[in-house]
Amino acid sequence: MALIVQKYGGTSVGTVERIQEVAKKLIQFQQQGHDLVVVVSAMSGETNRLLALANEVNRHPRGRELDVLLSTGEQVTIALLCMALEQAGVHANSYTGSQVRILTDNTHNKARIMEIDDNKIRADLKQGHIVVVAGFQGCDEHGNITTLGRGGSDTTAVALAAALKADECQIYTDVDGVYTTDPRVVKEARRLDQITFEEMLEMASLGAKVLQIRSVEFASKYNVPLRVLSSFTEGGGTLITAEDPKMEQALISGIAFNRDEAKVTIIGVPDHPGIASQILGPIAKENIEVDMIIQNTAHDSTTDFTFTVHRNDYQNALNILQNTAKELGAKEVIGDDNIAKVSVVGVGMRSHAGIASSMFDTLAKESINISMISTSEIKISVVIDEKYLELAVRALHDAFELEKI
Ligand code: ADP
Ligand code: ASP
Ligand code: MG
Repeated sequence: MALIVQKYGGTSVGTVERIQEVAKKLIQFQQQGHDLVVVVSAMSGETNRLLALANEVNRHPRGRELDVLLSTGEQVTIALLCMALEQAGVHANSYTGSQVRILTDNTHNKARIMEIDDNKIRADLKQGHIVVVAGFQGCDEHGNITTLGRGGSDTTAVALAAALKADECQIYTDVDGVYTTDPRVVKEARRLDQITFEEMLEMASLGAKVLQIRSVEFASKYNVPLRVLSSFTEGGGTLITAEDPKMEQALISGIAFNRDEAKVTIIGVPDHPGIASQILGPIAKENIEVDMIIQNTAHDSTTDFTFTVHRNDYQNALNILQNTAKELGAKEVIGDDNIAKVSVVGVGMRSHAGIASSMFDTLAKESINISMISTSEIKISVVIDEKYLELAVRALHDAFELEKI
């Protein structure tokens, strides 16, 4: 008998009928003899609806109040799912994050899980009950409700699986696994049977939103076998695990992309030690995260410095940089928020040269200009004009023969 933590995302519980379907599935799993802890998201669209309501009342609601509001989405689903199970004659208890006591830090809207009290869950399982937990939420040490950031129910599920030492954490969603790239964009995308934590972490960080980044970090840290599967169709899905040295690795496992970035450049900065920190210090002070950074080699004793930020922070970053430019006596500040980042990811890259040049070659053949490049051991990312994003993803998918995986 196995202890399994399952998570059902927004679409999987999007209607009353879907919730009834999930209940049916859970009963089958229970009949197979498994202990079940189930994490659910808000019904699809609900979190966005709540955010829009908040926005109508207050353009900048306090994080604490926003969390009280957003956490209600998941609370509706846990109650409905338990009622559906009860209706089918199976006993289940629902718990909000704070009822379980999923203790988080106090960073509202982006809280991190610190500790989970597993007493109530274990007691319920012992009685043969299904336990249903609201995803995406917890409470801080003072009992304030917190939420974990968009997509946070994935992290709730993995953290619970780690705390309970579950045999597997299964993420049920609207695709039947992790694909070589977003199947909504490239129809030739292929489902991967297996992918390593490291690759999945890169894919998630680089824009594949099938799993929240934190959930993959957790799974990797606590070595929780994680599986992504469809709640609509049968199949084994994609297993995400530690790297197995015996397994032959594909050169490239996937292509990730995102349109959430913008780039800013400060031109003609007098070049002297400390300018990078003088430029980025004020940006960090405003809590703006910086992704890629490029500093050109100096000529005429001045240099240009470019970096990317989240698109929501674009205007703010430009304003800050304009002030910095005045202080440092730089020539001008320019920016572009119509950019996109495309990345190829694969642990196979470690032992193979030439991936970067094939990537650049492929983009050149499509006349796509690269404006920034960054690399790590297992990924290469480029920034391009947003309007060529889909073309670039398709061309790379084709060039690396990912449809044959
Ligand atoms: P849920 O509501 O179940 O949490 P999400 O919308 O958060 O579901 O995540 C599933 C979606 O992730 C898919 O519908 C798909 O469009 C998108 N996605 C992006 N990249 C990938 C990928 N590489 N593999 C699978 N799905 C991906
Ligand atoms: N309901 C939250 C969201 O839409 C959390 C989740 O679904 O994982 O982001
Ligand atoms: Mg999600």
